[in-house]
Amino acid sequence: MTKPEIIFIIGGPGVGKGSICGYLKSDYPKIISAFSTGDILRTIVKEKKIEGWDILEEDMKKGKLISSERVLFYLKEAILSCNNKVILVDGYPRNFENLELWDKTMKNIVEIKAVFFFDGTHDIMMKRIHKRKDGREDDKNDDIIKKRIEVFEKETKPLIDIFKKRG
Ligand code: AMP
Repeated sequence: MTKPEIIFIIGGPGVGKGSICGYLKSDYPKIISAFSTGDILRTIVKEKKIEGWDILEEDMKKGKLISSERVLFYLKEAILSCNNKVILVDGYPRNFENLELWDKTMKNIVEIKAVFFFDGTHDIMMKRIHKRKDGREDDKNDDIIKKRIEVFEKETKPLIDIFKKRG
């Protein structure tokens, strides 16, 4: 059996990763699936069924990253339950630790086919977040939005060089 093909969607908060995934998924519903780690975590917080949901909620409200093990556990579950050939992953990896754990856990299960990087200025990110009306707790406060942009610059953006080196 061929391995599912993963496309990582990387970009700062509000840059449009989720929108692009939505368009691609609806244009090619039989081939493409899309998972957003942020959406998976927000669903857990909303449903309040899984132990530790309240800790997730606290960290997400502050714009802090969740433990890699926990995020990948849920993401892997979603990926394995999916029958489509191409899977867009929005929100993972977010830092070196995420990527290291992915390599260790997922290497034999899936193939990374491509990485799409969506660039945008901080100003655009801020404006787009102000415009969206998803009711996200972490969108409500400019200091938290700035913190998320900072986490992206410091922890996520350096991954682009790694992927470039990997070809
Ligand atoms: P997002 O919807 O991608 O902006 O993610 C919202 C929040 O979920 C982030 O600010 C983090 O708190 C958490 N989160 C999402 N993906 C990850 C990840 N790969 N590693 C750690 N935390 C994550």
